[in-house]
Amino acid sequence: MRQHRLHGNNETQTFPIGKVVCVGRNYVEHVNELNNAMPDEAVLFIKPSTAVCSLNSAIVLPEGKGGCHYEAELALLIGKPLKNASHNQVEVAVAGIGLALDLTLRDKQSELKAKGLPWERAKAFDNSCPVSDFYPLTQPLDRAFCYQFSINGELRQSADSSHMIWGMIDLVTEISHQFTLEPGDVVITGTPKGVGQLHKGDKLSLSLESYFQLNTQVSV
Ligand code: ZN
Repeated sequence: MRQHRLHGNNETQTFPIGKVVCVGRNYVEHVNELNNAMPDEAVLFIKPSTAVCSLNSAIVLPEGKGGCHYEAELALLIGKPLKNASHNQVEVAVAGIGLALDLTLRDKQSELKAKGLPWERAKAFDNSCPVSDFYPLTQPLDRAFCYQFSINGELRQSADSSHMIWGMIDLVTEISHQFTLEPGDVVITGTPKGVGQLHKGDKLSLSLESYFQLNTQVSV
């Protein structure tokens, strides 16, 4: 995938593929399922542009690197530059909403966490961030967004953004005070509980309210 796509009413806009800024530990029940400490500030990390691929294509799992987990997350496409932004600037700069999988080599991440080392080997590999197309917001960002992720017809993750520790406006604002966000960057907003391993041939389904529903699969 060479560009992000934003589907408006009459036209599809494209954006360059930039970095992905990710937040860890943003839903209480997920913090607990991995036995992590509750954070006192947002846990941020970055995936490079080379991590981005399309959720509309089959997902290729890394070979020989241990279990690869899914984390289904709400994704925000940045449409305007943001640096040290206010809440109002953030609301204007978010061009669209979609879904992403934050693919994670969980065994590797556990090993790195135990050693106090950075997570990039586990989180930032090529194609570690399949993203959907994006859709313009039809409701304010601080309203609750609900989404679901299923594997082979079985519901694995069901999330309500009102359960985030840091809501999406606060989160993007805080991120902009740490890293400049540019058009084509994406912010992924953390995973709810229910993470688990992907397997070759799994059929995946993701839905975001009335915005979209998409089916994809893990390649065999
Ligand atoms: Zn994540």
